[in-house]
Amino acid sequence: MALGFLKSGKQNGGAGFGGKSLPGRAAVLGEVEELGIGMFWATDAEGRLSFLSQRALADLDLPADALIGKPLSQVFSEIEAEPGAPQQRAIGFKIKARSRIEEHVVALAAGKPGAEEGTRWWRLNGRPLVDARGNFLGYRGSAVDITSQYAHEMQVARQSQVDELTGLANRRKLGERLTAMLAAFRVSQRSCALMMLDLDRFKHVNDTMGHPAGDDLLRQVAERLKGIVKDNGEVGRLGGDEFQVLLPDMDDRGVLGELANRIVQSLSQPYQINGRRAIIGTSVGIAIAPYDGIDAPELTSAADMALYAAKETRGGTFCFFTSELRDAASKTAELGDRLRDAVDRGELKLAYQPLVDPVTNQVRCFEALLRWHDEDEGAVSPADFIPIAENDNLIIRIGEMALRQACNDALQWPESIHVAVNVSAKQFTRPGFCKSVAQVLEITGLPPARLELEITESVFVGDIEEVDAIFRDLKKLGVRLALDDFGTGYSSLGYLKNGHFDKLKIDQSFVRGCTENGDTNPAIITAIVALAKALGMVTVAEGVEAMDELGLVRDRGADLVQGYVYSPAIFQEEVLDKFADGTMLVEPSGPPRHRSERITIFRKVGLIHEDHYYNVILRNLSKTGARITGLAGVPVGTDVVLDLGHGQLVVSRVVNASESSQGLKFETSLISDGSGGFMTRHRISPYSLAEAGIPLAALGAGAFPLAKWRAAHKSPPAFIQLDLGV
Ligand code: C2E
Ligand code: CA
Ligand code: CA
Repeated sequence: MALGFLKSGKQNGGAGFGGKSLPGRAAVLGEVEELGIGMFWATDAEGRLSFLSQRALADLDLPADALIGKPLSQVFSEIEAEPGAPQQRAIGFKIKARSRIEEHVVALAAGKPGAEEGTRWWRLNGRPLVDARGNFLGYRGSAVDITSQYAHEMQVARQSQVDELTGLANRRKLGERLTAMLAAFRVSQRSCALMMLDLDRFKHVNDTMGHPAGDDLLRQVAERLKGIVKDNGEVGRLGGDEFQVLLPDMDDRGVLGELANRIVQSLSQPYQINGRRAIIGTSVGIAIAPYDGIDAPELTSAADMALYAAKETRGGTFCFFTSELRDAASKTAELGDRLRDAVDRGELKLAYQPLVDPVTNQVRCFEALLRWHDEDEGAVSPADFIPIAENDNLIIRIGEMALRQACNDALQWPESIHVAVNVSAKQFTRPGFCKSVAQVLEITGLPPARLELEITESVFVGDIEEVDAIFRDLKKLGVRLALDDFGTGYSSLGYLKNGHFDKLKIDQSFVRGCTENGDTNPAIITAIVALAKALGMVTVAEGVEAMDELGLVRDRGADLVQGYVYSPAIFQEEVLDKFADGTMLVEPSGPPRHRSERITIFRKVGLIHEDHYYNVILRNLSKTGARITGLAGVPVGTDVVLDLGHGQLVVSRVVNASESSQGLKFETSLISDGSGGFMTRHRISPYSLAEAGIPLAALGAGAFPLAKWRAAHKSPPAFIQLDLGV
């Protein structure tokens, strides 16, 4: 019932939640609360408590200002699980992932010390709220005080090992089993897999068909799970719609993937409940001891992270834990925090890269590119931090700052020189963008025709009519528009014909290496230039580094060239210094020919031959083989071991070889990792490493510790290690 209430809030964009703008609703809210049905809470986009209803405050016997503004994860503490029992996922984690909060039990410190020593237990439900443009606004949720039942339930649960509803092992039993199993297996060096399951859309069934139907559904899910897992493992229910499967002596990721897939398939088949049909989905996260964790908390958190990754991809799928998941999640969160601080402190700077006429070597325009120097990380690329800012409203602040700064700086250049500013799709489609551009132009006094906005094809999603309207408004202002990274996106030519764009920037991927033999890129460049000319657009070739590339793009008719061959992006002081004489000429300089070894899109991996360890670059990877570069003098027929990282060793044979590149065929095929990549079926066990003298404790989440092994083995290498240049 409380949820139906929230739904109506959502339809109205949630603006009136809390009763501010809709007094009628406030009254209903009060009535619902008085009936003792529930209490309500809300957070802002940063996860801080922004609203707590009257009854909730009364329940805690605390003044509002003691709680409002505090991070939710601070107000609501996680309940302490039984020793060894897997924890429910922390609420802070859920908020970060912006996933729904469902039946999450938390503890709160109340004002009045009482029978429960001042602690109340609430069961929370909440959902993330987004506006029409997909901006995250915060959480809206309800709560029920379960303090009196909770103490009793805890008591019962403590004594019981069985989940009453499904008859499966309960959280407590699973926790004990996992802890005991891992301790025993550590001694006997056995492996064990943990699958974490979370049903998709279960809440929906529960709400629309009623709780008894939900219970029935959970029982059927339990039956199906038991039917698939059979004697191979133990199935349990953690609570709510979360299940777990414990599989001893299982480390074959091929078999596990198949099992997970069967679970996903089976649970997604329709259910019959009281003569009605219901469909739900499920996501599965998989972690394997000892590779992904050696004790219960470690393995559980690994499986949890994999589950979140599975849910994030698209739901209805499975995902294996990899240490990249952990690294990526923590790195992104950390970088986001640092970025926010850097923006607050004004540490982001703009640099300017010239766009040059390749015939006259005259600068026509400068593109503003953000530069961020982090104390610890060093220079962080905008290609890394812009996507992080885009997850957040931070991009709006950064974008407006860049626009203002660039317009100001441009005023110090000769009047004929344009300034180009990158605009992220999120910034572009936000209401009021056009107005903010107009404002900046007015404040700075820059003539609109000198400003170019660089936009990528990614703005052409969603409501195209709306996007068109933004374009028309911007054109009315008199600013110029450039289509950036042309050729990388959807590459639909439809939106070129509508005449919005003044300039088309040919993506670097077509330009770099365009002079290599037999390359189709020159033909593509020619075609794009011709098309752009026909539609009256100026063309820019991006990422030109070598003199031969410059020659080619000039001959093919590119109007402007942007690339290291003329200049990288430089700070405003240097711009003013360099062009102090006002001629705006810049001489090209660079390597005479494009050097293909500088393509760095590939992954660095290891290669073991005899007792030597080499670094190589993986050029491509298939299930059955790979191409590597970075070594010279490797004869065909050589047996080697490819180290793909994290214990993934692949026995391979060199089947063809040129001077610096080799084709490898794998002894055993790789398997797919569920998300488009490949992985090895088995990994080399940390136990074998321990036997080789590398202690388990040395096994961090990071790289496979072969470096140590390498240091201990020092015979002369058989192959020549080339400089990888990355
Ligand atoms: P972009 O708009 O395609 O910018 C061109 C990128 O290519 C810049 O990278 C530039 O330094 C690099 N580049 C230019 N010439 C060469 C060359 O000859 N060789 C090579 N290897 N690279 C070259 P940067 O500065 O790292 O920026 C990366 C991306 O970050 C930009 O790609 C743009 O999408 C985004 N970005 C940068 N500044 C902003 C900004 O103020 N707002 C927004 N929304 N995005 C920005
Ligand atoms: Ca750009
Ligand atoms: Ca570009």
